[in-house]
Amino acid sequence: MRVCLDPGHGGTDRANRGPTGYVEADGVLDIALRVRALLQAAGLEVVMTRDKDVSVTLAARMAFAAAQGSDLFMSIHTDAWSDPGARGCTVFCSVRPDRSRDLAEAIEQGLRQAGRPSRGVKTRVQGNGRDYYHVIRESKVPSVLVECAFHTNPAEEALLKTADFRQLLAAAIASGIKAFVGPLAPEVIPILLDGKLLPVTGHLFGDVTYAPVRALAEALGLTVVWDAKQRLVRLARPK
Ligand SMILES: [Zn+2]
Repeated sequence: MRVCLDPGHGGTDRANRGPTGYVEADGVLDIALRVRALLQAAGLEVVMTRDKDVSVTLAARMAFAAAQGSDLFMSIHTDAWSDPGARGCTVFCSVRPDRSRDLAEAIEQGLRQAGRPSRGVKTRVQGNGRDYYHVIRESKVPSVLVECAFHTNPAEEALLKTADFRQLLAAAIASGIKAFVGPLAPEVIPILLDGKLLPVTGHLFGDVTYAPVRALAEALGLTVVWDAKQRLVRLARPK
């Protein structure tokens, strides 16, 4: 399962900001990097349309997501409105009959459970009935655009400027994605020693293969002791 995270804006596109200096391009990049860390720790593969402050066109974002074989697409933004009282998160999904709405509902539930006021799961369409947002419209996989909070709302801007709040948003988004994906069945990876198959298999989580320590170490001729008291594994080379 490969997740494509798409932090909005960046590079020359840095105009969206709050009244006291929050910059959307930077805030959403930070949130997305936190989401990536949480998803990778859960064994998901993550690619990002940008992982630093660079300009990426909307078309390039979609081409990247498709070329990477992404299974779902998650665009991350913060919101703006002329009324400084506007607040809360909004989760936009595609009108396509794919699982976009399921993904959006899982994300929204994650945000609600984190205590965020929600404006709901919404679709936004153009006159021709197709999705309004480019990154949702041009995606071939379930796609969601989350507006995490209003940076035009002074209280929410103050929150967005704190790492704790960005971590809370990231955890909410990551938990929604994990709920949507469901339990992962890790790929079984054969392990060979000097070309010969070992009687132990690995399991791939993200880009790391995990294998049972005892079976692997004993196959390599090491002795293995589980120290239950200190909760650690002692490996030793043969004397
Ligand atoms: Zn935006």
